[in-house]
Amino acid sequence: MRILPLLIGAAALLAPMAVPALCAAAEPSPTVATFRLKVGEASIVALSDGVFPLPADQLLIADRPGVVEPLLQKAGLPAAPETTVNAFLIEVGGRRILVDTGSGALLGPSLGGLAASLKAAGYAPDQIDEILITHLHPDHVGGLTADGGAVFPNATVRVAKADADYWLDKAHQASADASVKGAFDGAAASLAPYIAAGRFKPFEPGQALSPGLTALSTPGHTPGHASYRLVSKGQTIVFWGDIVHVAAVQFPDPAVTIHFDTDPTQAAATRKALYEQAGGNHALVAASHIAFPGVGRVSQVGKTFIWSPVSNVGR
Ligand SMILES: [Zn+2]
Repeated sequence: MRILPLLIGAAALLAPMAVPALCAAAEPSPTVATFRLKVGEASIVALSDGVFPLPADQLLIADRPGVVEPLLQKAGLPAAPETTVNAFLIEVGGRRILVDTGSGALLGPSLGGLAASLKAAGYAPDQIDEILITHLHPDHVGGLTADGGAVFPNATVRVAKADADYWLDKAHQASADASVKGAFDGAAASLAPYIAAGRFKPFEPGQALSPGLTALSTPGHTPGHASYRLVSKGQTIVFWGDIVHVAAVQFPDPAVTIHFDTDPTQAAATRKALYEQAGGNHALVAASHIAFPGVGRVSQVGKTFIWSPVSNVGR
């Protein structure tokens, strides 16, 4: 019977976590961390939002039995490995652009550290000009608001129209699996002050973003999931979003999906295509849920793929 652990996992991801009073003294706080690198003329800063235990043995779905647990064990990981939530700042051409905003107050006490990480990197929220959202899950949009107000008073929020159309639609919420219904409320609440201020601007496929930045349609995890490619002075970095949730499993076997994928078959196909692109052009990749800073390169060995963190492969 998988329902109970599945719901526990869903709760960890998608709902505020109730902390028993006895545990209050040991309540975790988000990991604050920054990591800066240059890509052409752009400065990229990886920003930690924190970590949480992802019940991978319950939430990852393989196309055959006996895949997930052995790969976790091979990597020396428990059934619920610690998983990072990363966001990224791009500073280029006098503009400061965030890719995703972390969890804010939507998830547990070990998440929501983006604002502190941004401050530690030397930036104030009012310096952010634009925010590119990969998709409207709570660990990517929760940091947009605090106490119902906009955290970033000067920023325009961009997201693929297909994701906005899905997550802001009450009819989709009504028919969604119980474990993701809360994500609809989180998306609506996070975007509300930006919509009210006329600073929420969904984009159509192919529509131009800031100079040097291109949105890539990478659906499957959500209907309008987008990745973002930045090219500066001939160097490239691709901000993946949620192409990977558990690197130790999904690089060796890209066919492994996660319970929260709205279209698992499409998600697996998108993942394999992005792995092949990243491996083929040797581009830098910045990923939301790969161990901080989540920046590295991909290489292909036969049918499997290997992630090399930027600290190992140079910048
Ligand atoms: Zn995510």
